[in-house]
Amino acid sequence: CGIVGYVGGQSALDVVIAGLKRLEYRGYDSSGVAVLADGGLAAAKKAGKLVNLEKELVGRPLPAGATGIGHTRWATHGGPTDANAHPHLDNAGRVAVVHNGIIENFAGLRAELAGRGHELASETDTEVVAHLLAESFSSCGDLAEAMRLVCRQLDGAFTLVAVHADDPDVVVGARRNSPLVVGVGEGEAFLASDVAAFIAHTRSAIELGQDQVVEVRRDGEGGGAAGVSVTVTDFYGAPGEV
Ligand code: GLU
Repeated sequence: CGIVGYVGGQSALDVVIAGLKRLEYRGYDSSGVAVLADGGLAAAKKAGKLVNLEKELVGRPLPAGATGIGHTRWATHGGPTDANAHPHLDNAGRVAVVHNGIIENFAGLRAELAGRGHELASETDTEVVAHLLAESFSSCGDLAEAMRLVCRQLDGAFTLVAVHADDPDVVVGARRNSPLVVGVGEGEAFLASDVAAFIAHTRSAIELGQDQVVEVRRDGEGGGAAGVSVTVTDFYGAPGEV
């Protein structure tokens, strides 16, 4: 239902939680976050209101990181449980993805993944995307390219936002029949399902077009101020209008 992604100089967790609060009015049944920190990926997710997630994070704090994603879920496939809440991770715990919408062909993809040895941990349509991204990333080594490869296999409506622990300064998003907005600030960038999630930080917003993938990458410039690059393509890698 609500999606927020962040890369920049602030605490990603704080920015993501604040963004999710701005999207609460849309309604949801569970929520979750993932951050990249110390070469790894850490996630927390809880059924119920954001306050449940915040309590969980007090009891089990995540390491501080500059890259993160979050989600408020309105369940369509699988009940509103902790396990079905987003983000969804691959089996190695290196990829995390959040999703709005419905992956129509998830059952076939699930069966194929199970046949290739993946263990699915939820009842959602979304989880297949985490496993597929992990597979594609391990063959191409590039999260945006992995997202393009995966989107070409998906039917339905989706806004997807993902991170990978092997590429910690990057957040990737994609959309079809569901909105995704990119916000660009000073040395930081935001991805969200609604501009309300980051309007407190920047007014510079780009609406992603139908069937496009976006990569936001933070580049440290040898001691200077960090910059952020935004790259948009279609699902086949052709450069998109920004
Ligand atoms: N279909 C997904 C699920 O049930 C996403 C729902 C949403 O848009 O929040 O987990």
